[in-house]
Amino acid sequence: MTTKETKAQGKLVIISGPSGVGKSTICKQVVEKLDAFLSVSATSRSQSDSEQNGRDYVFLTREDFEAKIREGEFLEYAQVFGNYYGTPKQPVDDAIAAGCIVILEIDVQGASQVKKIRPESQTIFVLPPRQKDLRKRIDGRGRGEDAETKKRRLETASREIATAWQYYDHMVVNDDLAQAVQEVIDIIDGNIKEQI
Ligand code: 5GP
Repeated sequence: MTTKETKAQGKLVIISGPSGVGKSTICKQVVEKLDAFLSVSATSRSQSDSEQNGRDYVFLTREDFEAKIREGEFLEYAQVFGNYYGTPKQPVDDAIAAGCIVILEIDVQGASQVKKIRPESQTIFVLPPRQKDLRKRIDGRGRGEDAETKKRRLETASREIATAWQYYDHMVVNDDLAQAVQEVIDIIDGNIKEQI
């Protein structure tokens, strides 16, 4: 394959979904199977024991995050659950220019910002098979979050799901993980056209 052909394949894929739906697991498997580039977001939220700085997120203070906003370093950013989250622009642009499939795991606010400036990007929303599964998964994640934060995550999940039906190109139900991963790959490969 020539460099030119490889470059033509660079594309931006946005994957969103409520907390606890399993989107991180789906993203990791899709990235492995497609040899794609997974964007590492920056956040001002605190780091949990299971997370690694630079691998799961780049953890910043609010002040540092705001300085980067002013410097135009983010492709998009939003406040989620009272903290900043954003996609560093340069690594994404570099990966697209190198012909990679770039995956952004971001919330619905960020997705709508990116879709406006990069309308060719594909948007995929991951749904739980049953709403009550989310409560179980949010409760059982062991991130040490308090009851109020967990409640907010569930309330936000309901709102996001309602919005997603209007704005996303594709909805994927994560009932069976392998099937959900394959569906996302088929969407990226262009084997499934817009469903909504
Ligand atoms: P968590 O705190 O559970 O890791 O993430 C909370 C929410 O922030 C999730 O919905 C996640 O998709 C979203 N998120 C993570 N990174 C980004 C980002 O870079 N930009 C935006 N807009 N949302 C993000």
